[in-house]
Amino acid sequence: MSVKLTVLKLGGSVITNKEKPSTPNLPAIERLAREISKANVSPFVLVHGGGSFGHPVARQYGIREGYKDSSQIMGFSKTHQAMTKLNKLIVDSLINHNIPAVGVQPSSCVVTKAGRIQSMEEKPLKKMLEIGFVPVLYGDAVFDSETGFAILSGDQLVSSLAINLNADHIVVGVDVNGLYTADPKTDSSARLFQHITLEELKNLKHKIEGSKVTDVTGGMLGKMFELTPAVEHEIRTTIVNATKPNRVYKALKGEKVVGTIIEKGETIA
Ligand code: ADP
Repeated sequence: MSVKLTVLKLGGSVITNKEKPSTPNLPAIERLAREISKANVSPFVLVHGGGSFGHPVARQYGIREGYKDSSQIMGFSKTHQAMTKLNKLIVDSLINHNIPAVGVQPSSCVVTKAGRIQSMEEKPLKKMLEIGFVPVLYGDAVFDSETGFAILSGDQLVSSLAINLNADHIVVGVDVNGLYTADPKTDSSARLFQHITLEELKNLKHKIEGSKVTDVTGGMLGKMFELTPAVEHEIRTTIVNATKPNRVYKALKGEKVVGTIIEKGETIA
């Protein structure tokens, strides 16, 4: 592929109402489909999170812990089914905006080993991109060679797809303006990083882990951990607030936008 790929991740906190089980945020999905259509970036892959669709069922049945007893089997089916419903809403909305989206089930093309991607069937994805389709993947319940099954996060998927399909840009849409010095929802003195290097990120991680608030910072720090391999591959990575109109559009177009750019480079003084 001569033109480099862009991978967009839309967080579960953006496209669903995290407080209410299986509740999509339809106005947000609709607006984002419009922004993606207007940006018209190609080749393009979309990955979305589960929010209130996948997570509550997965938690109820302990899917993340792997296969321990047969009572979890229905839980795997229900988790996967919840995610296909959310995926359908997103794909429908993209198609309504004239984007040739095709839903791709990670449970059918990825096998993990102890929760980490071990193998992925990439041929159909490559073929889709070559012709001009937009594959739409998601965080999913997947089969695992060690634990029977596992939860594959959309964030791990983004990094892996971006590296293996030779992307040059990742845009991650969340419900805050980017990466802050602390969780902006609980710490009003938190400051936004406009740029951060991997070295600075490592220091921030140590600082946060050394403090008492580790448990509430999981979401964004987990994301940083997953995105690091892609940044190490020199893939430009931008985190923006996808709940705010036009931020995703601007990031996709490479325009200046409020957010955090993560770079491999040396520490910026
Ligand atoms: P999603 O499910 O949308 O992919 P998460 O909810 O897992 O995203 O992670 C994003 C959340 O992480 C934000 O809503 C924010 O409250 C929280 N967070 C914790 N620490 C930070 C931080 N240092 N900077 C930005 N957000 C943070």
